[in-house]
Amino acid sequence: MPYDRCDRYDCDVLVIGAGIVGLSAAYAVTRAAPGTRVAVLEKERGPALHQTGRNSGVIHSGIYYRPGSLKARYAVRGAAEMVKFCAEHGIAHEVTGKLIVATEREELPRLHALVQRGRENGIPVRELGAAQIAEYEPNVRGLAAIHVGTTGVCDYGAVARQLAESLAASGGEVRYGAEVAAVDRRPWGVAVRTAGGAVVRARVLVNCAGLHCDRVARLAGDDPGMRIVPFRGEYFDLARPELVRGLVYPVPDPAFPFLGVHLTRGIDGGVHVGPNAVPALAREGYAWSAVRPRELAGTLAWPGSWRTARRHWRYGAGELHRSLSKRAFADAVRRLLPDIAEADLRPAPAGVRAQAVLRDGTLVDDFLIREAPRTIHVLNAPSPAATASLPIGRQVARRALGVLGAAGV
Ligand SMILES: Cc1cc2nc3c(=O)[nH]c(=O)nc-3n(C[C@H](O)[C@H](O)[C@H](O)COP(=O)(O)OP(=O)(O)OC[C@H]3O[C@@H](n4cnc5c(N)ncnc54)[C@H](O)[C@@H]3O)c2cc1C
Repeated sequence: MPYDRCDRYDCDVLVIGAGIVGLSAAYAVTRAAPGTRVAVLEKERGPALHQTGRNSGVIHSGIYYRPGSLKARYAVRGAAEMVKFCAEHGIAHEVTGKLIVATEREELPRLHALVQRGRENGIPVRELGAAQIAEYEPNVRGLAAIHVGTTGVCDYGAVARQLAESLAASGGEVRYGAEVAAVDRRPWGVAVRTAGGAVVRARVLVNCAGLHCDRVARLAGDDPGMRIVPFRGEYFDLARPELVRGLVYPVPDPAFPFLGVHLTRGIDGGVHVGPNAVPALAREGYAWSAVRPRELAGTLAWPGSWRTARRHWRYGAGELHRSLSKRAFADAVRRLLPDIAEADLRPAPAGVRAQAVLRDGTLVDDFLIREAPRTIHVLNAPSPAATASLPIGRQVARRALGVLGAAGV
């Protein structure tokens, strides 16, 4: 696919991945610099078929994240923007508020620390004693809780579809069924080849490939210094949704970027229970039966995977047990919602998180955006990246336009 300087460009900015982050970045380019030619290549037949369409649908308030981190800044801002975006485009959403509930004494200091953190992040929180929990959730039990007013729910798949529509209305293009299989980067531009043999030439490449972002970085010739380790999150639907009014979360373990199995009343009125976090045996491994030996071998060959496993084996063993035994899963949920029985849990579609893991086994906590020549890589965009997608998109767009500017375009 070699090309030389005098070749025409098919677009100025080429984005890989039509999840919410890629679409938001592409849309932000057209907003910030009208007339810039933007194209998105997506391997699937439509937008949002992976993380964006398989999540809890929660508009996170930003309470959990370290003050000053990208997660904290973009989630707080992004939550407000997401509510506005949904309202403007008629997308189903609701600001429900949520409870974070401590069920064990040792969780109380961590609950208190969350109150402090929420206040540092400018989020309205109300502390509740055991008896006050029933004001919000009559069937939930705990020792203490906090109520976070700005949390909500929405349909992120619908948000992504709207972004694709708005992008098209501003002259951008999304090509589906276009898997990027090769990247050829030169000082003056980037050419990609799809699995179908089409070649697209651009001035700047933006990698928003989610579960495959590290592979795309390597296709471009960059060493991302991390690997995506896929963690499946399994869900059940609650057969008696009347047991839960809104959103109910446990106190998370600060050693992990996962929030623990929660109860979420979605915009469809159903209550979803989950997700847990178990290793997926393929990047898009939505069930234990989905195994891709090459991808699995890649995960196992990464030293960080083993170091993470060694460090967190006890937590991991608990999650595996609850994945393989519905009774154990129900027992865990009963800590928050004592009335539920195993039969109340009906299997629902799972999601897989793209979690960046460093060579030393560190689970990357914050969003990670890296620049390489003529390329912007989004290398870690786990939860709450759907909530934060509009600010993330603007940040990526700013960097891509910066590259164009530096190139004198
Ligand atoms: C179980 C679960 C629960 C979650 N809950 C929440 C929540 O409640 N609130 C929240 O804010 N966030 C939540 N998240 C996180 C959120 O879903 C993600 O952060 C967000 O969707 C990431 O978007 P993305 O565009 O980066 O990735 P994706 O949506 O995965 O999109 C990446 C796209 O790139 C495409 N692609 C990959 N490789 C190629 C290639 N070579 N060529 C072309 N296309 C390619 C893929 O097909 C895919 O469509 C959750 C995630 C999971 C998995």
